[in-house]
Amino acid sequence: MKAIVFERHGPPDVLKYIEVPQPAIKPNEVLVRVKACALNHLDIWVRLGLPGVPIPLPHIPGSDVAGEIAQVGSEVTSVRVGQKVVLAPGVTCGKCSACVSGLDNRCRYFTNLGYMIDGGCAEFVRVPEVNCLPYPENLSFEEAAAVPLVFQTAWHMLVGRAQLQPGEDVLVLGASSGVGSAAIQIAKFFGARVIATAGSDEKLTKAKDLGADHLVNHKTQKIREEVRRITNKRGVDVVFEHAGTATWDESIASLAPCGRLVTCGATTGFDARIDLRFLFSRQLSLLGSYMGTKSELHTVLKLAAAGRLKPVVDRVFPLAQAAAAHAYLESSSQFGKVVLRV
Ligand SMILES: [Zn+2]
Repeated sequence: MKAIVFERHGPPDVLKYIEVPQPAIKPNEVLVRVKACALNHLDIWVRLGLPGVPIPLPHIPGSDVAGEIAQVGSEVTSVRVGQKVVLAPGVTCGKCSACVSGLDNRCRYFTNLGYMIDGGCAEFVRVPEVNCLPYPENLSFEEAAAVPLVFQTAWHMLVGRAQLQPGEDVLVLGASSGVGSAAIQIAKFFGARVIATAGSDEKLTKAKDLGADHLVNHKTQKIREEVRRITNKRGVDVVFEHAGTATWDESIASLAPCGRLVTCGATTGFDARIDLRFLFSRQLSLLGSYMGTKSELHTVLKLAAAGRLKPVVDRVFPLAQAAAAHAYLESSSQFGKVVLRV
């Protein structure tokens, strides 16, 4: 089969479009013919290499897959050949206490497709049967592939961790990212008021189209000052963080008393600091969040199938041009998801 493979970590041009053997499936696995694979910031980290994370090389990246079942293992009972599927990115042991409690993103063996195992930037990918989720028929393959990782992550952050309540104020950092565009929609779905930030007025207009109530251009405006103005000096109940050091101080300063900051990443740097006097005197909560559960993804896909949550696809590249797609994603000029068509 054709696949995007890298044999060493480095810039986008380490990604090669080559012929590799088709994966062999185990009895509890399926082989999926990939139709579309969406990119995530995770793909860039994996390609560059992370300290202490021995990515097996050569490696096929890609976490977000939509496609059709091509082959099923001998123990597979819930899907059949030819069926359209969306794949849950998270692969776990399925047996530990966390997994059997439905909290599979806490499994110590948790990994993503395309992270410690081969992923979906290929004509075929193998996954456990439990990773096959019902296909939202109203969506194209490119749109369906744009849903899982970012919507599951944003849902887990706002609902699972921050326990967002109707009427609360939410500050969504980086509205133009995949996870930011998902967060705006989920926060609006729960009846929150959304303040969204982005680096250009064009991106802010798109954030408004997704439902954002107030807009902050973080290149020309100071986030904490705009938040104070919009909330009548109170601050927001929830800050949705994934940017890291570039926005951390603004995020902390934007929280209302007893506010919750929830974060899933640090794309601009991880070495943030906090003044503990603010943490205790303002009774703030700092919440870490990692991916989401398969159960949450089932919920997200139901809402996507009903048109209540909408994937935002910025641009589609052919699989062979994965290197160009990575470079485009790294340029941060997109609004929403960059997707590879297979
Ligand atoms: Zn487990």
